[in-house]
Amino acid sequence: MNRQALDELKQQIPLLDYLKAHAWQPARQLSRGRLIGLCPLHEDHAPSFLVDPRKNLFYCYGCGRGGDVIRFTELYHQVKFPQALASLRQWLGLPPLLRATTDFYRMQLHRHPEAVAYLCQRGIHSPELLEHMRIGYAPGGCLRRGLTELGYSISVLHAAGLITSVGYDAYTHRVVFPLEGNLYGRSISASAPPHRFLPGVKGGLYAWEHARRCPAVILVEGLFDYAVLWQAGFHNVTCSMGTHLNVHQYRQLCDSRRTVYLVFDADNNGGGQKAAQSLAGQLTEQGLSVRSVLLPDGHDPNSFFVQGGDAQQFQSLLEAAQ
Ligand SMILES: [Zn+2]
Repeated sequence: MNRQALDELKQQIPLLDYLKAHAWQPARQLSRGRLIGLCPLHEDHAPSFLVDPRKNLFYCYGCGRGGDVIRFTELYHQVKFPQALASLRQWLGLPPLLRATTDFYRMQLHRHPEAVAYLCQRGIHSPELLEHMRIGYAPGGCLRRGLTELGYSISVLHAAGLITSVGYDAYTHRVVFPLEGNLYGRSISASAPPHRFLPGVKGGLYAWEHARRCPAVILVEGLFDYAVLWQAGFHNVTCSMGTHLNVHQYRQLCDSRRTVYLVFDADNNGGGQKAAQSLAGQLTEQGLSVRSVLLPDGHDPNSFFVQGGDAQQFQSLLEAAQ
């Protein structure tokens, strides 16, 4: 990314907007429009975090750190420069309401050990992955207040499907993942239906902008499959969120003559494999090179890694695929 593109990105994301979206509040105003408040980067008891909205810069007198919105993202999410850029671009790309909801739920994740424990149990633990997928947690009973405080009306929240007609959070006890124009929620309790989306389309292939540049992509059916593969270093992975691709997803996959590794669930009733076979046929007709990856019986990519499979073993499965 060149200097000009970096400057453009910074102009598109005013530091103050980004800070406020991450629950930062100024304690008071100083001269020349500058603001001071508690530092979100260290344990702060007296306001020491200075923000200059005109220059789009921050500096903390407590921890001595400062810089622009990219530097803040690196420090706040503890990621490296390229991940900070990707994260800011993704943040920018989300519709405002979805972005506000995602930010709100992300702040809840580390306040709820049951959510972190659930993610661990599904093999998800790296901070880079949490940041890359912008994973959050919906505890329930708090979204309405959080978002009305940001100025969203109850009718807007209801129309989006985020709260029910009687005002309850639609996502309760769910780990949430923002999609292009939707929100996927996975229940962490066995008594609720496992999957939830907002009304409307599920959108295109997951994180397609990252995967599409690779000559070979790995297609999986679930976001937890995506997560463990990404975490294991397979960044050429994408996800269709189900075994049936919508027209948009199908066109995306066919936009170049790439190789596609299909890794659908090896479920006992054979549904995943049947779907994979039929998709393989269609993609081959479009001139793509398709390999169906066979997992051990009863496994999906998530369970494969959770039960001790590693990157090297998965790589061997890819190489053995026909
Ligand atoms: Zn500080």
